Amino acid sequence: MKPIILVIFDGLGDRPIKALNFQTPLEAAKKPNLDKLAEVGITGLLHTIERGVRPGSDVAHLAILGYNPKFYYAGRGPFEASGYGIQLQEGDVAFRGNLGTVDKNFIVIDRRAGRIESSEVFAELINGLEIDEVKIIARAGLNHRIAIVLRGNNLSEKISDTDPHVVDHPVKKSYPLTEDNNSKSTALVVNKLSDKVYRLFNKHPINKEREKKGLPVANYLLLRGAGKMLKYESFLEKYNLKAACIAGAGLYKGIAKILGMEIIEVEGATGKIDSNIKGKIKKAIDLSPAYDFIFVHIKATDSLSEDGEPIQKKIFIEKTDQFFTPLVSLVKNREIILTVTGDHTTASDLKIHTADEVPIFVAGFGVRTDKVNKFGERSCQNGGLGHIEGANLIDFLINLRGETKLYGN
Ligand code: ZN
Repeated sequence: MKPIILVIFDGLGDRPIKALNFQTPLEAAKKPNLDKLAEVGITGLLHTIERGVRPGSDVAHLAILGYNPKFYYAGRGPFEASGYGIQLQEGDVAFRGNLGTVDKNFIVIDRRAGRIESSEVFAELINGLEIDEVKIIARAGLNHRIAIVLRGNNLSEKISDTDPHVVDHPVKKSYPLTEDNNSKSTALVVNKLSDKVYRLFNKHPINKEREKKGLPVANYLLLRGAGKMLKYESFLEKYNLKAACIAGAGLYKGIAKILGMEIIEVEGATGKIDSNIKGKIKKAIDLSPAYDFIFVHIKATDSLSEDGEPIQKKIFIEKTDQFFTPLVSLVKNREIILTVTGDHTTASDLKIHTADEVPIFVAGFGVRTDKVNKFGERSCQNGGLGHIEGANLIDFLINLRGETKLYGN
């Protein structure tokens, strides 16, 4: 069976940009390999969720991988925490967290505690604590980042953030977003944890040292994105595909891990503009005989759009294109099924995700070519795939492998 390689450029889609002569960054980019692949493939427009929906990256990825977010999504926290290496259990409530700096009146001075080098010591201080029979699991991420998981009975994700999301505002108490007792008691645990964190962190020697150096202290935990860990059928159970994930950023590794994919680390894969994309693509090719499905995530296209940098986005696409050379020959020889798309449009002029559809191509084994010979938002309007929803993509790819179950007799 031919292996499937799915490459998602985060926030790949864009809008016509004045500085690019009203082309999109993808249209303006010189990208001979991606154009060649689109030419030998079938192209179209992907609605990750459905027309008119502006997706977040978390639900967009779930949908593309065939997990309807209506049933498989209850907040972002679990995917982040999973990406930090926490083994989640059904019913856990997880958060994304930052170490932050507050003054004595609990006004937020810095939401990232001066991008402190490490949150390791602080995570260890609270990891394993018990509050009202709820176990606290804390795991350090890069710099100020820290994931928090609550484990216990009757927890609810229907609670508000403690992060005010802006500086010069007081920290927030978590409050229940529904009337039920579970959300009330969970919010109470979070507030007790916040008090305890301040007491433990504020006087810590690391902070005394930082104070002396005039650096912002890491004396508070700002929590956001509460989510509940649900029950997930693994990718193998759902599709009978042995799957691997190659990604730099934690969220995508976390989603893949929760879906039972193997996470393959590549040195220098950071999810940033200087990420080792050459290494990621090489690794995907090396893995392809051993895995049926390899998901490769590339983040910088989204970050550059959110920073309002369409020209940099175009340059990044051009740089990345050269690493697709080995995929072109594999596709031409029909040795793989390659699909390249985005999880949503991120409009560089607006610096936000939008509901605009995203270009997609599928090339390689079994593909019936269309007449499109360029990979772009407008060229793909003429593609043979037409408009496709995220929920249908994996089934389309499995059909190319010849593994779709017969309907009827
Ligand atoms: Zn995204």
